[in-house]
Amino acid sequence: MANPVEAWKTDKHGLDVWPDLERYAAQHTPMNKIDTSDLERMKWYGFFYRKRDTPGRYMNRIRITAGELTSQQAKEIAYVAYQLGHGIVDITTRANLQVQGLGIEHLPEVARRLNRVGLTSKQTGHDNIRNVFAHPFSGLLPDELIDTRKLCHEITDLFIDSREFSDLPRKLNICLNGSAQHSAHFWTQDISYLATRNSRGNLRFQVLLAGTQGQNPHLAWHMPVLVAPDRVVEVTRAILDLFRTRGSREKRNAARLCFLVKEIGIDGVMQWLGEYLPFPLEPCVTKPEPAVTHDELIGWFRQRDPNLWTMGISVPLGRMTWRQLEGLAVLSKRWGDGQLRTTHEQGIAVINVAHFHKDAAATDAAALGLSLHADPFEMNTMACTGSQFCNIAVTETKGHMFRLIDNLRKKSLKLHGIRIHMSGCPSSCAQHFTADIGLKGVRVRRLVGTREGFDVFLGGGVAGEVQMGLPYRFGVDVDQLPTLIDQVVSEYYQNHLEGQAFSAYWRDKLRAEQAAKVEETQYRTPTWMCEGCRYEHHAEDPPVFCPSCAGLRRRFVRLDDSDAAGAAVSPAADTTAPEREDGFLFAAMEIDLTESEGRSVEVAGNEMALFRVDGQVHAIDAACPHEGAPLAQGEIKNGTITCPWHGWAFNTCTGCSLDPPGHDVRAYPTLVEDGRIFVKLVATDTASPVCKPAANGSIKRGGTPLARPVEVELRLADVIPEAPGVKTFRFDNGDGQIPHDLPGRFVKLCVPTDGDHLWRSFTISSSPTSRPWLDLTIKRNPGGIVTPYLFEHLKPGATLKMKGPQGNFCFDPEKHSEPLALVSAGSGITPMLSIARYLRDTGIRRPCAFLYGARSAADVLFCTEVQRLADDLPSFHYAVTLSQPEASWLGPRGRIDVPFALEEISDVAARRWFLCGPDDFMDSLRAELIEAGVEPTRIHTEQFHAAQFLAS
Ligand code: SF4
Repeated sequence: MANPVEAWKTDKHGLDVWPDLERYAAQHTPMNKIDTSDLERMKWYGFFYRKRDTPGRYMNRIRITAGELTSQQAKEIAYVAYQLGHGIVDITTRANLQVQGLGIEHLPEVARRLNRVGLTSKQTGHDNIRNVFAHPFSGLLPDELIDTRKLCHEITDLFIDSREFSDLPRKLNICLNGSAQHSAHFWTQDISYLATRNSRGNLRFQVLLAGTQGQNPHLAWHMPVLVAPDRVVEVTRAILDLFRTRGSREKRNAARLCFLVKEIGIDGVMQWLGEYLPFPLEPCVTKPEPAVTHDELIGWFRQRDPNLWTMGISVPLGRMTWRQLEGLAVLSKRWGDGQLRTTHEQGIAVINVAHFHKDAAATDAAALGLSLHADPFEMNTMACTGSQFCNIAVTETKGHMFRLIDNLRKKSLKLHGIRIHMSGCPSSCAQHFTADIGLKGVRVRRLVGTREGFDVFLGGGVAGEVQMGLPYRFGVDVDQLPTLIDQVVSEYYQNHLEGQAFSAYWRDKLRAEQAAKVEETQYRTPTWMCEGCRYEHHAEDPPVFCPSCAGLRRRFVRLDDSDAAGAAVSPAADTTAPEREDGFLFAAMEIDLTESEGRSVEVAGNEMALFRVDGQVHAIDAACPHEGAPLAQGEIKNGTITCPWHGWAFNTCTGCSLDPPGHDVRAYPTLVEDGRIFVKLVATDTASPVCKPAANGSIKRGGTPLARPVEVELRLADVIPEAPGVKTFRFDNGDGQIPHDLPGRFVKLCVPTDGDHLWRSFTISSSPTSRPWLDLTIKRNPGGIVTPYLFEHLKPGATLKMKGPQGNFCFDPEKHSEPLALVSAGSGITPMLSIARYLRDTGIRRPCAFLYGARSAADVLFCTEVQRLADDLPSFHYAVTLSQPEASWLGPRGRIDVPFALEEISDVAARRWFLCGPDDFMDSLRAELIEAGVEPTRIHTEQFHAAQFLAS
């Protein structure tokens, strides 16, 4: 019996979803109102629903056949990402480009815009043939045997818009290599054509068939034939027809081409080809030879025409900002001929650069923050999309990999070409099985909850032979990866035989160890448990869906067994902390605690969660008092940890419950010494007072009263238009129901949209001194639900539920004695406005620079008021930069960026900085400020994203 996917594919072909997609777009249909089968069918047009990217956004995967991209196409993709998406563009390991963050209403427009520049995203997902790629420098390589780009396009023409070839049992991958060096990628494709010459010196292709990385990794079988270039399309059609008609459609996890080849053998495939093709194939038993190293794709490469060069650019983990892609498009026209190539190593190249333009091109790339001199970490690492956007991911990836790289750099580890690939689930999009060190995301049980961890594979990749990596450790806690990788690389350096590659060393060692282990005790298959229904699954990997409750793969945790337990290095075992007499006990190594992620530890039998916020280490109880979820796995933002299960929020410093109030957890004193974190176990009755409200409802935190959040109903007193699409909603907070204590805090507002009550966060733009009013200045997000509702339906007199105040991104005059720098862009001005108004009203005379970025003069918010502040207050400096200014604008031009901020402020190191704007801007400004001598604890950042300012 066919599986359910086959049933809905039969009901309606994926290509037939287009009229529905247009209707959903026209009606702004929310994702949860669209039938799942239609959401899946949208992948036939390259649109992938992203449930994790709230509120229901879409990713567009764009087919870049043979990696060929023009300057015009690159620009269009960059503008789509900027205007309609999150402003980022990812390069995949099949050389596609992906744009994240699209609204349903944008999808038809995206398809039209791609079409206009000769691109398509059709059939880039689900049971389709994915991007056909070639060597990224095809047609340019001096020693190339054949330029395969034309064949890539001819094969693509075979299946685009074909109803038969877009209804395969599962996905299928095809690539061609016209160079004589064949990297490991080609052994894990469904069909690989690898250039060679036959005994008479004629150009032919060797064929590898049915390789795969994913759930059931398998290196491709060699087909004992040679295929002439003009027969490649016909042979491809024959194999596609074989798969289409005889591939199994019963079980999704046994439907890839490799299962058919396992069933009928290569002989069966040869027999099919013999009957199908009107010409005989040239027999050849010689197998293709893998290259001894990975393809070098970063740096300068002289082309076949010796006057021209290819500039291979490093894109760390394949993620670019839209500005970088747009900048490369401009650069390619200025210094090349307007052509670029995407690479299967998640990189990009500008081609046909004249010799005398090399320096200028490299300088322009550097100005974009891109380089062709990647360090070994950038060159040798790869990460898939992960849980940030991917629906079936088990773990986060790109963020983990960036942190791993940082940690390895701090350890001064040398990689020397050892490659590390990280996938967020068994699907292996980052090809972890063919890396020297492969990391596959899993969840593992630790203490009261689960942690993100990775199964570690060693010995994959190329070293004269292609091999799949062998398992080395299961369920290694993500925080322990730097130590583990340091150990395995150092061991290799110290013990390898002369000339022995890393992968060969570890393969030999692991094979020997496994042989010994299997003799001693029989191998036990891992056990996975669904956290939803406790169903147990015994297999190498968790299933995509729980067969019992249909929960997604990420709900499965690996149950610790003796192997797994031994794999994870416990903090206590990792250190030799001396005993102390002051009552502080060792908890963890400082290096293992990052700003972005908490960490569960056990100290003398007490389970607690550690967090690092603005350089300070905090410790609170590990379990959420609601249902015991592990708080360390929640989202940390501005000193607030949000429980991963039900969204309860706690202050990491005090343990005070912010939302809902009244469920405080214990906080513990911490101490950091010599890179070690210690905590003091204080009895409940002495630990709790930090959370106990004072008589006025505030909570003591050091010397500063911290307002306790409450839930109240406030009356809307007025709605004040501020600028096109921006209004201030003024609430009557006459009795101080919301105890607005410090400027910069936010509240949650309950908005009664059609048929639903949605809570959304908004920063308070008024000063705490502006009683009785509490103002929320809100920008309308035309594609959303909440802000259009507020703008169109909310009238003075209405009452709304509100929770707050919340957030630690606030100016505290008792603690912050330094001159201030308030830097913001767009709607990110709201907390800065609150701080500036507070300075004005309280008479606190603190030097203050107010820097602001907007698109045009018409978009500058509160210009008159802030200018008046600058005129009235001594030492108040106001400067604006515009990214798309009118011709008459005489002030600074360009996006708000680091040079602008540093230009306007001279005493950089002496200031306390508040930053609110796009992530990339804040990240780079924060890094530069630290480099310029600013204490990290004096830099406060507030994320500028939909939930906070635009809402949905
Ligand atoms: Fe998503 Fe898994 Fe692929 Fe990563 S490997 S992109 S987590 S499906």
